[in-house]
Amino acid sequence: MKHFDYIFTGTGLAALMTVYKMIESGKFTDKSILLIDENSKKDNDRTWCFWETENSIWEKSISKKWESALFGNADFSRSLDLKPYEYNMVKGLDFYNQVFELISKQSNITFANEKVTDINELENHVFVATEKENYTCEKLLNSIYRKSEVENQTQYPVLQQHFIGWFIKSKEAAFNPEQATFMDFSVAQKGNTRFMYVLPSSKTEALLEYTLFSHQLLKKEEYEQEIEKYIQKLGIQNYEITEKEQGSIPMTCYPFWKKNTQKVLNIGTAGGWTKASTGYTFKSSDKKTTQLVAFLLTETDLIKFHKKTKFWFYDLLLLDILDQKNELGASIFSSMFKKGNPSLIFKFLDEETSLFEDLKVILKCPKMPFINALIRSNRYLFH
Ligand SMILES: Cc1cc2nc3c(=O)[nH]c(=O)nc-3n(C[C@H](O)[C@H](O)[C@H](O)COP(=O)(O)OP(=O)(O)OC[C@H]3O[C@@H](n4cnc5c(N)ncnc54)[C@H](O)[C@@H]3O)c2cc1C
Repeated sequence: MKHFDYIFTGTGLAALMTVYKMIESGKFTDKSILLIDENSKKDNDRTWCFWETENSIWEKSISKKWESALFGNADFSRSLDLKPYEYNMVKGLDFYNQVFELISKQSNITFANEKVTDINELENHVFVATEKENYTCEKLLNSIYRKSEVENQTQYPVLQQHFIGWFIKSKEAAFNPEQATFMDFSVAQKGNTRFMYVLPSSKTEALLEYTLFSHQLLKKEEYEQEIEKYIQKLGIQNYEITEKEQGSIPMTCYPFWKKNTQKVLNIGTAGGWTKASTGYTFKSSDKKTTQLVAFLLTETDLIKFHKKTKFWFYDLLLLDILDQKNELGASIFSSMFKKGNPSLIFKFLDEETSLFEDLKVILKCPKMPFINALIRSNRYLFH
């Protein structure tokens, strides 16, 4: 049975960011590393966006940047100047290629295109079975998300950020390529939190995503009818769909870290790195993987990696509100973005604000739902 220093079960965003930074550090060349994924990572299966104030190491994979974004609902729209941030778009395949190009030059790293069927922690090592082989390792970094474990518990609310997106090319010049649309809540809310997200790459090309923060997924037709309606509203008569994507990202404060052990660390969405209140994972994974690579060089007990912060609790309050009253999302996000300072909101979502700055953002939101959520919050805290 082949033995490795590190095995990554799942080789998506979080694993690839970690491995990339391990290689760049130059400090893991004597470690044997196995990456396992059932998918060969050769498809453009998702589009990531994240905000950043300076050039990142993913610059090579960024295909579009915006310095301005639109936020709107049925009553108002506001053009947000994002400076000093830029909103960056990364095509999944460009990211996979950037990382695999570097991996292919490393003799200590092996990629196995296999499905993991079992992970078992034993006294002296971790055992991993795939459909084809068995392996063992000293440390396991797992990003295979265990949906049923999260969804079968009832203590913490679990919503989904779910969407279908169409990349379209129109005959009419209908888009402003200098401005992304973050959240357009002018679409019918139907008792949920529903919005359009638009990423224009030229005057005639954009990705349009009909998105919900809610419990239940919709039928495919419903997302697509809403995208069609929105395209009509933009005055577009002639267009072709060039690509489609879809996603369902868990939004939850479920304490994933409790499953970490000395030898096994859950990373990415499986490790709770998805920002519970927004579904964004790219930026937080970028930050966490930098911390993780430094941690692996000095620490051996993987339990010590997780640090709980006040932001976990803020996210919990928002999720509790959306869990109880899903229709309140539009008014909460609108009150935050109507007059709030966009760069402060980004800093807050990046979990980098001081308590004083937190209050500046939070006090823009309607008070009663948060007071009620605060009262309800003891049921999460004292378990
Ligand atoms: C379409 C889409 C768009 C998104 N857009 C954004 C965005 O704009 N910004 C943002 O911040 N986040 C976005 N997200 C959310 C988040 O960034 C991604 O889901 C991200 O890929 C999560 O990283 P991860 O490493 O946890 O999981 P993944 O990247 O999904 O990696 C997990 C890996 O595990 C593999 N795997 C699963 N089961 C097995 C098994 N049994 N055996 C072997 N391998 C297995 C999968 O093939 C996959 O490669 C988006 C998600 C989707 C789906």
